[in-house]
Amino acid sequence: MAANTRPSPTLYRVCCNCNAPDADVKCSCLAVYYCGLGCQQAHILEHKHKCTHLLCKSIKKKGAVISRLQVQGSSDGVASVELLVLEQELARVHYKVGRLMMASLQPAKYQEAETHFKQALHLHRKVEASRGMLRGAAVRAAAGKLAAKAAQREGLYGALIDLGQLHGLMCKNENELQVYQEALQEVRGDIAHASTPQLQGHLSRILTAMGKMCLNQYSSQITNGAEGDKGKCTGAKALLQEALSIQCALAQYGMAAQTLIILASVHGYLEMFDEARSTLKQALDLTRRCHGKEIEEVATCHEEMAIICREQVKAIIKLLSMHMEYMLTNSIRLYHSRGSRVLVEGLQKQQQYNGIEGVVVRMDALRMCVRLDMLDNKELMFKPENVCPLFSTALKLQEQLQKLHDLAQERIASSKEHHRIQIKVKGVKHVNTAIACQNLGVAYLATGKPADTGLGVSLLIQADKIRCRVGDDDTDLALSISKNLSAAQEDQARFDGGGVLSAMPCCWPPTSRHEDETKMVRLFAGLQARNGKRGSPSMSSEAMQQGLRLYGLFNVTASACDAVSDP
Ligand SMILES: [Zn+2]
Ligand SMILES: [Zn+2]
Repeated sequence: MAANTRPSPTLYRVCCNCNAPDADVKCSCLAVYYCGLGCQQAHILEHKHKCTHLLCKSIKKKGAVISRLQVQGSSDGVASVELLVLEQELARVHYKVGRLMMASLQPAKYQEAETHFKQALHLHRKVEASRGMLRGAAVRAAAGKLAAKAAQREGLYGALIDLGQLHGLMCKNENELQVYQEALQEVRGDIAHASTPQLQGHLSRILTAMGKMCLNQYSSQITNGAEGDKGKCTGAKALLQEALSIQCALAQYGMAAQTLIILASVHGYLEMFDEARSTLKQALDLTRRCHGKEIEEVATCHEEMAIICREQVKAIIKLLSMHMEYMLTNSIRLYHSRGSRVLVEGLQKQQQYNGIEGVVVRMDALRMCVRLDMLDNKELMFKPENVCPLFSTALKLQEQLQKLHDLAQERIASSKEHHRIQIKVKGVKHVNTAIACQNLGVAYLATGKPADTGLGVSLLIQADKIRCRVGDDDTDLALSISKNLSAAQEDQARFDGGGVLSAMPCCWPPTSRHEDETKMVRLFAGLQARNGKRGSPSMSSEAMQQGLRLYGLFNVTASACDAVSDP
């Protein structure tokens, strides 16, 4: 479940040295701005470690020295140690530049970043191979100058993992997988030789990266409208769980929290929503424990929580709508598609199966095959009248409506926290604050209640103001705010229209009186037909109540509804 908040690239031309706005001197690396040459010079000592332009210059210099040494072709072991030390340094600089270019989030720089990572890898491997060939005096000289073997391996793993992530950003899926597999093989080999906490740490980072890769692949499949290979999600889950157990054993709670956030997304995609929310709560606890309360990571947890709540509400509403349609049309076929959950009831001869839940496996013209949850998943054929939609009882329906209400409230609470921390960390004048403000507004709208809708409208207006003030030029954001706002204002107008019947229990958008009346007429006709066929005297009143509940005309719980508007 992808969050909306952007990973905050440099948005405004603020002077890096004195924070003055509208700075127009650009460093040659194109990543930072200054208000003038004075500020640029004052800042150079700090910036030179992060300036890809200067770092690339030093790469050129080092490269020239290295080729000079190579040309000299000294067979002297000590001289070749000098060469190795230089190559090791060069690998580090290549890695650094690659990382800076990847972190810029500018796709135009990815190709160059890839080259730098590959150079770093090539040099690491070369030094590693040459190190093994050193003899005598050279070994003693190397001990003082060359970085230790473990540190060298660390550089290698870092470059491999980052190269994989970069391939992910460039949508080179095959290369990404290949790089991770290579890293995995190397680290497992090292661990088999001698396991250390560092190596375990690398292993967990690789596993997390691979889990994230599977998740990204799945989410891009469904974003493109494809069915989506659920196997990717279960694969991601296994990888992340392995990573998590290592991170917990090493007491790396910050890393574990990040892994938990990804794992929660996986649970969300697998529609295991309750699990997703409890995973996120663990992540939240860990993040707070590691960093204190008010940081961006905590805000991210809250944002994710709001997203999971939204998706869970969607899933429940889909189910309830199907139920409503069933009552309107009395068509069992419409309700019972393959895979829908059902309850067996009303059997006269084989009463032992009454009350057992199951899943519809297939159906023919007369009967349905149901796989029972109990009795070793036995599959049995039933007549349609003995197979009830899972929400057949008013009590179950009420449970679901209550859950909708609770989730809507949890979504609001999470969005509120996200919004509050966002302001505290980034200030009001930030594009992510506009996004957080919009998310909170939409969370209020989702309850479908008049007061909340009003709040939602004012938050969306505020979000748009912030967006204009920071001068954000992302048209998607502007579009989504204005779309949400006009929908919200339409809802508001409907509430003001009088005689609105629905939208009471929760999460049902308000409709006009005319729409409501038409639907109610259809509903009662459907219920009557159903009642006649079934011939059960108690059916009518219970089904009627369910219909009323679905339309919010019936008090579900005192807290879950506002007063019904007078028609
Ligand atoms: Zn300045
Ligand atoms: Zn620079």
